[in-house]
Amino acid sequence: MSTSSSANLLTGKLLFPFIAPPNGGKGTQTQILSQRYNLPTFDMGASFRAIMKEGKDPVLKAELESYMNNGKLVPIETVVKVFKTNFEDLASQHPTSRGFILDGFPRNKEQADALSQLCTEWQAKLAKVIYLHVGMDVVKQRATGRRFCSKNARHVYNVNDTKLAPKVKKLEQNREIWFCDIDGAELIIRPDDESETVEKRLQEYKKETDPLIEYFKGTQQLVEINGEQDPSLVTQAIEAEIQPLLGLSPTS
Ligand code: AMP
Repeated sequence: MSTSSSANLLTGKLLFPFIAPPNGGKGTQTQILSQRYNLPTFDMGASFRAIMKEGKDPVLKAELESYMNNGKLVPIETVVKVFKTNFEDLASQHPTSRGFILDGFPRNKEQADALSQLCTEWQAKLAKVIYLHVGMDVVKQRATGRRFCSKNARHVYNVNDTKLAPKVKKLEQNREIWFCDIDGAELIIRPDDESETVEKRLQEYKKETDPLIEYFKGTQQLVEINGEQDPSLVTQAIEAEIQPLLGLSPTS
């Protein structure tokens, strides 16, 4: 789509970036809030996984794989290119929404600067940055139990947490196999949830994202929320921040 039409589409839209460590509950919260407030979500990691799955661009696919499977951040040029194209597409599909959730972008200061420039170009507003604070021990414990539905990656479970565990499991040759509550498909572990990669992703998060959090604290745009509490309380805390900005009540 052309830049001028996307600029029109995004004029006055509110953007809500979410920051959290890997397994910090970002996916769960963005899914709930997106539905309740009609805020479509742009998910950077999911965009990259879709590109890799499609496999239309083998060079890009190989580049993404080499970073993601090593828990490293994808270089800025690729991130901004994919973000701009895919986000403008998303905006064109939802012309009447008040705003958008950004899941996983920006992840460092360089990306925040790029987003700020794009907001100026689009005349969109970075409304609030939602930061879910979760301690590293909790994150590691969650990571080892995380499972995704093989049919729909937005169906996420945690087999280490009774509240988030799926209902059905089978034991086959001493291996536990879990199934999705929604569509019955087998659950899988994402390659970047393997323990070695999780460790690298956490190190990368501390290195890149800690300074970003400090930066947004300085601009007064950051809202820090305790991400270790019950997921419904996390949702309530985020709602208290975004509802006044949207001037809306939840749709469900
Ligand atoms: P996520 O699905 O958010 O856990 O992201 C999975 C992986 O995608 C990360 O570990 C990075 O390798 C890559 N990725 C996602 N978002 C970004 C970003 N904003 N910048 C660079 N790499 C990213």
